[in-house]
Amino acid sequence: MAGVALKASNGLSLMAKLNSRPGTYALVLHAEAAEHVEVGRLGHLEVAPGFYVYVGSARGPGGLSAQISRHWAIAKRLRWHMDYLREVTTPTEAWYTCDALRRECAWADVFRQMPGASLPLTGFGSSDCTCPSHLFFFGEKPSRAAFIRRLRRVVVGHGPVHCETMAPRGGDQARCCVVCPAVCD
Ligand SMILES: [Zn+2]
Repeated sequence: MAGVALKASNGLSLMAKLNSRPGTYALVLHAEAAEHVEVGRLGHLEVAPGFYVYVGSARGPGGLSAQISRHWAIAKRLRWHMDYLREVTTPTEAWYTCDALRRECAWADVFRQMPGASLPLTGFGSSDCTCPSHLFFFGEKPSRAAFIRRLRRVVVGHGPVHCETMAPRGGDQARCCVVCPAVCD
């Protein structure tokens, strides 16, 4: 997080609940209106009303807590592809698993094959792998249960997938999804 200034966000206190273990996550972001955004050198992204899912992995200091908190806040200095998208969308949920194995490309593959998924910008978040993208667009909010079902067919023995939800802007603290109140221990 060196050199990155973060605005205060209630997401930060939420993420204090997450531990600092490594893992894989999917950030669900809501776009209320059509927008245009230049994603660094990657180019132009037409943001459509709907839901964006960004898949990443947390391997650095602070693990999942640090990485998801960083996305939840708005970076003052735009560095990662997600920083640009974050400016015009609102994170609503973080789905994550605490797993030392790198699962992000398997997760991306599952999202890509889900009904209604499209790839809004080739290369987004996938500079370090061979995936076409780690960003997906859905007109309707994707189902976490459907995602987990598909994930378990692809990755046998995959650990639990947890979920954190964000309270609406101006609301109280974000709360943990009631479906899955446990965090990784
Ligand atoms: Zn990948």
